Amino acid sequence: MNEQRNNNNKKNYLIFAIISLVLLLVFNAFIVPAVKKAQIKETNYSFFLKQLDAGTITQAEIKDDSIVFEVKDEDGDKKLYSTVKIEDPDLVSRLYKNGKVDFTGKIEHENPIVTFIFSWVLPIVLMIVLWNVLMRGMSKRMGNSMAFGKSNAKIYVKAQTGKTFSDVAGQDEAKEALVEIVDFLHNPQKYAEIGASLPKGALLVGPPGTGKTLLAQAVAGEADVPFFSISGSEFVEMFVGMGAAKVRDLFKQANDKAPCIVFIDEIDTIGKKRDGQLGGNDEREQTLNQLLTEMDGFDGKRGVVILAATNRPDSLDPALLRPGRFDRRIPAELPDLAGREAILKVHAQKIKTEPEIDYNAIARATAGASGAELANIINEGALRAVRSGRQTVCQSDLEESVEVVIAGYQRKNAVISQQEKEIIAYHEIGHALVAAKQKDSAPVHKITIIPRTSGALGYTMQVDEGEKFLLTKEEALARITTLTGGRSAEEVIFNSCTTGASNDIEKATQLARAMVTRYGMSSGFDMIALETVNNQYLGGDTSLACSPETAARIDEEVNSIVRSAHEKAKRILMENIEKLRELSSYLLEKETITGEEFMAILNRKPAPEQV
Ligand code: ADP
Ligand code: MG
Ligand code: ZN
Repeated sequence: MNEQRNNNNKKNYLIFAIISLVLLLVFNAFIVPAVKKAQIKETNYSFFLKQLDAGTITQAEIKDDSIVFEVKDEDGDKKLYSTVKIEDPDLVSRLYKNGKVDFTGKIEHENPIVTFIFSWVLPIVLMIVLWNVLMRGMSKRMGNSMAFGKSNAKIYVKAQTGKTFSDVAGQDEAKEALVEIVDFLHNPQKYAEIGASLPKGALLVGPPGTGKTLLAQAVAGEADVPFFSISGSEFVEMFVGMGAAKVRDLFKQANDKAPCIVFIDEIDTIGKKRDGQLGGNDEREQTLNQLLTEMDGFDGKRGVVILAATNRPDSLDPALLRPGRFDRRIPAELPDLAGREAILKVHAQKIKTEPEIDYNAIARATAGASGAELANIINEGALRAVRSGRQTVCQSDLEESVEVVIAGYQRKNAVISQQEKEIIAYHEIGHALVAAKQKDSAPVHKITIIPRTSGALGYTMQVDEGEKFLLTKEEALARITTLTGGRSAEEVIFNSCTTGASNDIEKATQLARAMVTRYGMSSGFDMIALETVNNQYLGGDTSLACSPETAARIDEEVNSIVRSAHEKAKRILMENIEKLRELSSYLLEKETITGEEFMAILNRKPAPEQV
């Protein structure tokens, strides 16, 4: 490793020396003569003769094609002139006759120190400055590739990350697995006595924002051993081979500092499957190969533990995942209800809140949110409190910020005509009413027709009582029916439809499609996987695995599911058309209503005269 770096350094110096030499030559050949020339003034021959007669010339240098001479004026200042040399046989005798002229053949018109500075010191100084500027510019642009294979892993020790396991809420399984690793680094002999050897590497996998990086930092905080942290992208270099050199350097440093932890964040940037395609990414493959070699090479008993994090485990090279390398997988999943509540509480400790905050309610409203989003919700709540000039954060701040994170900020000054507002109100009440009239649907929590920056013109929030892990077929159908409720209301009341339902349509189709292709919930197909999910942690896009004929049948199935849901929604609304009108005009007036208000009006007996 050192040899490698020394070689690189030698190469650098050689390049530097060559550049210096070339510059020096250029300087002496062109710039120094030019500077000298600037000191000499060009004149004609008659001026020379005149000065000669006047006796002011003190020296003359007669060259092959020119005469350089020195004139002393009345003040005693000496000036250099040069003139063309004209064939003049009397010249020498004339000079001789004059007597005063010193025609030695060469005039010492240069100050030797100045010349030395110009031709040697200045170029070298310039070059050093240039070299430094270039180096700095390059290292900025190319992420230190000129550091030539030196890994720039940050070394963390306990005090520096400042994170401990108490900062990570939920994620109990992940913490348990990591605690074991920390324990191993503290008491290796306990494990050695039994003969157990700990996994060399552990891979943290999970969707973005679930606290993978945070967990690794917490390990660093708890472990009390050196902690090297580097991101996968830092290995990827402009020059082929540099990434591999960095891996080597990183592992050498780690071996010197053992016991220690090496953390490679976003390992999928270098750990992607090698596909052997022509023109594949050579650099990345070399880096990966080096990583594989290094992980085999070091002794697990010395106590170097490698952690890595990724949200694309399916794209990793199988060689990385085999036992002896990253053989342990630590999942960091999206938090459940209890986890969300705990995460909210951890982050709420950092802000000033009113004493009684119902975190459970916030957690219930944020199903599917990641730790990072929950942290963001708390912060948005604090910002809102500041904006409205309060000292502490209250429940409504947090509830509003849930909506901000889900749907964006309120667009208070959006101008929407009364007619459009009416349509939007009917649309939202349509959703809510259809939801409320089905028994497999989550209760309505809030309805609003205040537009949001995400483009939503209004929305209906449904919040489940508890945590749901399974979705029954009835619930799925109820959800699709609720989604079609908005459009249905428009049709029932105005007998027309608007573009406002596009998002509902998208969601309904997605769910209906999943029911057919992945959940085996349609009448037309049995338990057949017609689609596979590609990367479960990042959006979960799917790819179809069936014949074109089957694909056409899938589309039919999906269409029939959505159609029957749509019809059911319309039927529900027709049956409750009075309530639909009553609730919509109430919403139009209030703009935002709670689930309780909604249910109160819905369950109210109709006015006596209408009976
Ligand atoms: P990733 O899994 O994408 O690496 P990070 O670890 O960077 O996610 O998490 C981003 C932020 O989200 C953290 O800094 C933290 O504030 C918050 N966060 C995520 N998960 C948790 C958790 N389980 N407990 C507390 N905070 C969390
Ligand atoms: Mg991360
Ligand atoms: Zn809608």
